[in-house]
Amino acid sequence: MRKDPLIIRLTDIPEEGKSFTFSQKDPTAALRLHDLLGDHPFLIEASIRPLNHQNFELTGRVQAASAQQCSRCAEDFEFNLHQKINEIMIPTLEVGRTERYAKTPTDDSSDLSSVQYSTDMTFDLGEYVHEIIALNTPENPAPAVKGDQCSGCPRKVVPGAFDYDETTPSEIRPSPFEVLKNLKV
Ligand SMILES: [Zn+2]
Repeated sequence: MRKDPLIIRLTDIPEEGKSFTFSQKDPTAALRLHDLLGDHPFLIEASIRPLNHQNFELTGRVQAASAQQCSRCAEDFEFNLHQKINEIMIPTLEVGRTERYAKTPTDDSSDLSSVQYSTDMTFDLGEYVHEIIALNTPENPAPAVKGDQCSGCPRKVVPGAFDYDETTPSEIRPSPFEVLKNLKV
């Protein structure tokens, strides 16, 4: 089995911590994120630092582009994800415990989320980043609107409408005044 550079051996992390960078140029990373990102570019920056004999701090960021369909106008656009990473890494809880994201006793009062590493002291950064991207990609994606146009979509946007072809005669509706005038006898 080939060594996966995204599977981090925590026993190799020095006291001062260690940083990792992966992009679409890394074949293993590209392959592991391909189902979400296709051939789009991404950048993973992660730092792991020991906090004590069993906990590590995981910080960094994930930037990734993916092809999405605009939920406003159904045009394809490139969705850009910028996600910060800030986690406390905890050992896998004993068999029988079911709460996957249970807090460690030390971080009960904080908003920090925790992530588990394996009993063999490895952490699968690829799986973690895959989850980060999947969780933070909106179900109904749409780029920001600039003026009357989706910033990433080629068509103009009329808020709340789904047909933007203004030249279609059937779309031209009479004004309320026209309607009233025609009702007068
Ligand atoms: Zn759009």
